[in-house]
Amino acid sequence: MKRFEWMQKEISALKDKGLFTNIRTLSSPQDAWLTVDGKKVLNFCSNNYLGLANHPDLKKAARAAIDTYGVGPGAVRTIAGTMDIHKKLEDRVAKFKRAEAAITFQSGFMANLGTIPALVGKKDVIFSDELNHASIIDGCRLSGARIARFKHCDPNHLKQVIKENEGTYEKALIITDGVFSMDGDIAPLDFLQEIAQANDILLAVDDAHGEGVLGNGGRGIVDHFNLHGQVDIEIGTFSKAFGVVGGMVSGNAVIIQWLKQRGRPFLFSSAMTPPDVAACIAGIDLLEKSTEYVDSLWKNAEYFKTNMAKNGFDIGQSQTPITPIMLGEAPLAQAMSKDLFDNGIFATPIGFPTVPKGKARIRVMISAAHRQEDLDQGLEKFAESGKKLGVI
Ligand code: PMP
Repeated sequence: MKRFEWMQKEISALKDKGLFTNIRTLSSPQDAWLTVDGKKVLNFCSNNYLGLANHPDLKKAARAAIDTYGVGPGAVRTIAGTMDIHKKLEDRVAKFKRAEAAITFQSGFMANLGTIPALVGKKDVIFSDELNHASIIDGCRLSGARIARFKHCDPNHLKQVIKENEGTYEKALIITDGVFSMDGDIAPLDFLQEIAQANDILLAVDDAHGEGVLGNGGRGIVDHFNLHGQVDIEIGTFSKAFGVVGGMVSGNAVIIQWLKQRGRPFLFSSAMTPPDVAACIAGIDLLEKSTEYVDSLWKNAEYFKTNMAKNGFDIGQSQTPITPIMLGEAPLAQAMSKDLFDNGIFATPIGFPTVPKGKARIRVMISAAHRQEDLDQGLEKFAESGKKLGVI
């Protein structure tokens, strides 16, 4: 039919360019090993950094919450959807992050969509790192504010852009990813904070890939730079290191109070479910008790990265467990991912628009759930595949 024709054409073009995403299906819990499309494979591409997605404590907490609260919140937070466990989670997040207050959203994406438009609007400007995540970009667009991009992780360029925009706006916001999800590099938050402070501009960081990874016991990027109380807004997710799903914003108490009045997904979309909330609280309990999971993650990542580099792979400039295997063109990334899968390794290819054209890669995500023999098997299979396809 005619009204579908353009989509069919676009889909064919994506397939021709090796950019069509083949979505595989899991029939097992998230862990080091998965059953994917009916096949048992070693997992190298989930965001389950600490292995908490299938942790007995989190599952137990979720089951108990279902018995006490049922499965759904029944309403948006402001009407009848705020349960005592939502407030408990927000208190726990604030304490964990050593922030004044916190608010939860349904996901990290929603946290960005809810937060940015509540803070800036049509007469305002957003200074945004050019490689910020899609959810930040969409939040910025939704706000209607003018978006002034600064060069990736470049505080001097940020200063210049602020200067160029002087006198052209009412309010301003500086926003950056904390850990950049495709490259694993860390934003220079200390310099950004100084610039924000000097210019009296709001500062927000999206710590989706820093929570459970950076800082003391996984407290995140603000803790990593020891900037407690000095970064106005720390946005995050429960879907990665915490292994659950949900979004969070912590920071200045006035801002959190404002978001509870004006964060549209908080006002107009139902709250996180009780089992999710309870599992998140159990995740915070674990991280507050011990650094064992965070320590294993870093140990595993160091081992894998060192040996991948030794084997001749270009693993980019990551400063975190995120390990991009740089391959260049999307069809090569797809071919390598397929070859790895045929040999029992699950590692999805990533191409445009998630990363720039010509910068396709396989992004390996190391987890605390990996055992030594899992890492060794992965290294061996990557090397075999890399040689076969002429990558190394
Ligand atoms: N921000 C960043 C930097 C992310 O990488 C992601 C996840 N891809 C999100 C936000 C969205 O998080 P969620 O999956 O909780 O919506």
